[in-house]
Parts: sequence; structure tokens; C-alpha cells
Amino acid sequence: MVNDLSPAHGSPALLELRGIHKTFGGVTALQGLDASIAPGEFVTVVGPSGCGKSTLFNIVAGLEEPDAGGTLRFEGRECRAAELLGRVSFMPQRDLLLPWRTVIDNAILAIEVEGTPRKQAREQALRMLPEFGLAGFENQYPHQLSGGMRQRVALMRTFLFKRDLMLLDEPFGALDALTRTMMQRWLLDVWQKHRRTILFITHDVDEAIFLGDRVLVMTARPGKVKLEQPVTLPRPRRPDLVTEPEFIRIKRVLLDAIEEESMKSFTATAVAAAA
Ligand code: ADP
Ligand code: MG
Repeated sequence: MVNDLSPAHGSPALLELRGIHKTFGGVTALQGLDASIAPGEFVTVVGPSGCGKSTLFNIVAGLEEPDAGGTLRFEGRECRAAELLGRVSFMPQRDLLLPWRTVIDNAILAIEVEGTPRKQAREQALRMLPEFGLAGFENQYPHQLSGGMRQRVALMRTFLFKRDLMLLDEPFGALDALTRTMMQRWLLDVWQKHRRTILFITHDVDEAIFLGDRVLVMTARPGKVKLEQPVTLPRPRRPDLVTEPEFIRIKRVLLDAIEEESMKSFTATAVAAAA
């Protein structure tokens, strides 16, 4: 698995979605979503709120089945969403740390559920603590930690559950700007070391560009991919990248696309409220 592979280089996709639809009662969340993720890629996803981003993740995590008609391929093989359950690591939008479990026991939750004996799971997690900036905090409880630390515990749980594909749903959404910037740089380091494939939802355009090999912009609901923007900025990404002309150019393209979609969803909401 190499980080410089992308579909453009002709490598087979790790995940391929074609014509994915998902309806909840009268609400069409996703309509004809196509996307393809190559092994080792870091792909970021932005789009108006309510456009189906989390629904997309629930499908890829195997928690929701899409409507009939679309196809889902993982490692080249067509499958049902349910078959992906346990084959990808998933960090949901809310961190879901259990308040009565310590840092270490929250971190091992996924591998413990999977069947790793607790003692062995704790040993694995202890080795990972320093890399996640949590050394010495193993016996603390979530309420004793800062927001950034809690997110690192949740991320550590996701990394410990060793799967090629990781889904991260707005992991830094609730953090202050400074913590968020530090977490972004740290995540890129960890990603390079662990060589995973990451799909990452964010509502922060700078974050999407800073982290991603590609940014997918989704349309307003019903969601599909409106635009795929490659980010060919060099890695490792440096903090001052945000001032480079290419970064600013990409940001303009993305903001225009997002604004167009946000206006659509705003208008749709306003019309529905008036009716
Ligand atoms: P996003 O993550 O982009 O903000 P979501 O995927 O959470 O959007 O939601 C997309 C749409 O689907 C919303 O209108 C939401 O209310 C609806 N939705 C999502 N999950 C469910 C569900 N389990 N039952 C009913 N409606 C849902
Ligand atoms: Mg969401």
C-alpha cells in the first residue's frame, strides 16, 4: 500500500461506489453517488449539512444498506454493505467514548468487542499511547481530558482496529482552531506511518485541502458527488501551505461549489417552511 497511488495512476480501487441511492421514508438522502478510493489515498469529503455525508459513511461501515440499484465494490469484489461490517474502521461523528471506561479501556473497545483478550488488547494500546500523545493518561477518564485528547483516544481506538480503510466523520469538528491545526499535522504523520486509506468528512475547506489527496464536494440533498478536486500539493504538508497560490486557487474552486450547493439547500428549506 503506497500513499502516492490514486485512481489516476490506474491502480485498482480499494472502494468503489456506483449509483448509490438511500431513502429514509420520504427523504432521499443519497441519489446516484459515485466515488472511488485508491489504496493509501487520503480523501476528504465536504458538503452542505444534511447532504448525506454521514449516511454515506454508515453505508460503507456496513451499518446501513443502500437502496437497490447501485453497486458497492470493496477490494475489487462486489458486495452488500452488510459484508463491510467489521472490515473498515469507523469513527462516528460523535466520539462515543464511554464515560465509565478509562482511556486505555476506551481505546481497546473495538478490538475487545472483536475478541482480543483484554490483557493483550491493553498491551497493544499501551504501546500506541505515546504516538497519540496520551502516555501517562491511560488510567484517566474521558471527563478528565481536553477535547483534543478525547479525540485522540477515539482516533486511537479507530487505528487499533487495524483495517485498510478508515472512515473519520468530522473528527476535529468540535475543536478550537489551534488544537485543530495541531491535530491535522499529527494525523498526517500517523497516517504516513500506518499507511491506511482514509475517507475524512469535514465542514472546513482549509482542512479538506490541507489533508487530502482529493476533495469530494457533495451536492445539497439528495447528495451525490458534485466535484472531485485533486490536491497535488507536495507532502509532507507544511503549515504555511495555506498561503500558497495553488492552495488559494483550490480553495476558491471548492468554496464556489459549496456555496452553490448551500444556496440550493437554503432555498429548498425556505420554500418548505413557507409551504
Ligand atoms: P450529513 O452528515 O451530510 O449532515 P446525514 O447523512 O446525517 O447528513 O443526513 C442526510 C439526510 O438523511 C438528513 O435529512 C437526515 O435527516 C436523513 N437521515 C439520516 N439518517 C437517517 C435515519 N436513520 N432515519 C431517517 N432519516 C435519516
Ligand atoms: Mg454528518
